[in-house]
Amino acid sequence: MSQPPQAAPHRVVVVGGGFGGLQAALKLAAMPVELTLVDRRNFHLFQPLAYQVATGALAAAEICFPLRRAFRGRGNVRVLLAEVVDVELDARRVRLRNVVSETALDPLPYDTLIVAGGAQYDYFGHDDWQRHAAELKSLEGALTVRRRILGAFEAAELERDPARQAAYLTFAVVGAGPTGVEMAGQIAEIARSLRPDMRAADPLRSRILLIEMGDRVLATFPPRLSAKAQRSLERLGVTSRLGESVIDVDAGSISVRRPDGATERIESETVVWAAGVVASPLARLLAERAGFGVERAGRLAVEADLSLPGHPEVLALGDMVSLRQPDGSVRALPGLAPVAMQQGRHAARVVADRLDGRPPRPFHYLDKGNLATIGRARAVADVKGVQLSGFLAWATWLIVHLWYLIGFENRLVVLVRWSFSFFGRGRGARLITQAPEPPGD
Ligand SMILES: Cc1cc2nc3c(=O)[nH]c(=O)nc-3n(C[C@H](O)[C@H](O)[C@H](O)COP(=O)(O)OP(=O)(O)OC[C@H]3O[C@@H](n4cnc5c(N)ncnc54)[C@H](O)[C@@H]3O)c2cc1C
Repeated sequence: MSQPPQAAPHRVVVVGGGFGGLQAALKLAAMPVELTLVDRRNFHLFQPLAYQVATGALAAAEICFPLRRAFRGRGNVRVLLAEVVDVELDARRVRLRNVVSETALDPLPYDTLIVAGGAQYDYFGHDDWQRHAAELKSLEGALTVRRRILGAFEAAELERDPARQAAYLTFAVVGAGPTGVEMAGQIAEIARSLRPDMRAADPLRSRILLIEMGDRVLATFPPRLSAKAQRSLERLGVTSRLGESVIDVDAGSISVRRPDGATERIESETVVWAAGVVASPLARLLAERAGFGVERAGRLAVEADLSLPGHPEVLALGDMVSLRQPDGSVRALPGLAPVAMQQGRHAARVVADRLDGRPPRPFHYLDKGNLATIGRARAVADVKGVQLSGFLAWATWLIVHLWYLIGFENRLVVLVRWSFSFFGRGRGARLITQAPEPPGD
């Protein structure tokens, strides 16, 4: 007797192996679907710890996890290293660009498409600043920041002109959100850890400037915690320059407009960009293909169940989307890993519901709180209205980050490194690995 023909498995394509895409893919991998995960990088990057790589506290591999390895033993999952360059909504195909060889790649068909392309730093329309003000959104960016910070200390050690030495020891961090605060605090910690190792330059004479347009640091935290964080930063030697906006960045300096309208040029060889972000270009691509525009910060407005309006077979999530509300308004959730992870898992549930013939459910964000670390044993936390600071907040930050780091080996290694840093101010990854940039570049 002949067997009835088997229905072809449902083909799901997930774009992006970041926080949202990886969670969706991990959940889908256990379902009866044929899953393809596409990312232009071959690893998942734990962005919340990128600043620790930028400051030599952790090595690059410790905050990354190879995507292929996450699906070892899952025969229904394919991982493709490629860049998504277009989506043909009517034909239900994704167009890919090969990022490792010249071979042309065939379009990738899907029954369900999940897009989680994340966001990128926004230089407020001044893309030329990027050359001089490195960012922390990519591993390469973090390694560039590390090279520049460590290189500046080395240059200061060699410099005989006091004004030049001061410029090398001036570090400007733009943006006082969690990343900027963490970065500024860590530069202060590096200066302390370098002091016994330097001879001609005194790292404790470093000027660390945290430049912020708003009127307080950590604006998404309650004002009391912002004030505490600012005091902690000051104790570490960081100067918060609030109400100042950046008007220019070039090789060797940053210019700001102060609250009184006056402008100031600050000689600084190291500028780190931790200011606004804009959604991945995939948001605009999907919006245009579906026949509408993007929202604030280039985000794509999706329905309550995360689907693309008019295309229930396409879901988008994470930093690149905002949510349509029942009253027609659009709400942007914060650009945080928990939002993307919860949405990733939700997208997988939407697929499961569809396969079982159930209607998709709306996404609800469960806000578990907000954490930011400032330096060694200093942090602030706002967990469901409970405001913590100091060691307790830092211990909470530490546990949460270890918990969410992907891979047991990474967790163990990071725990060991942090223990060494805590007890001995050790910085095992204090290496300048890339070729130094030519002076004045
Ligand atoms: C420096 C820094 C520190 C942060 N700290 C914190 C923190 O402490 N706590 C917190 O909750 N959040 C933090 N965040 C925010 C958090 O990292 C983001 O909210 C989260 O990464 C968003 O997840 P996502 O899946 O939307 O995007 P991402 O995690 O950015 O993933 C996007 C993925 O898509 C891939 N991709 C993009 N475009 C394409 C394409 N065309 N083709 C193929 N692949 C593509 C990328 O390679 C990437 O792997 C931080 C972010 C940064 C940059």
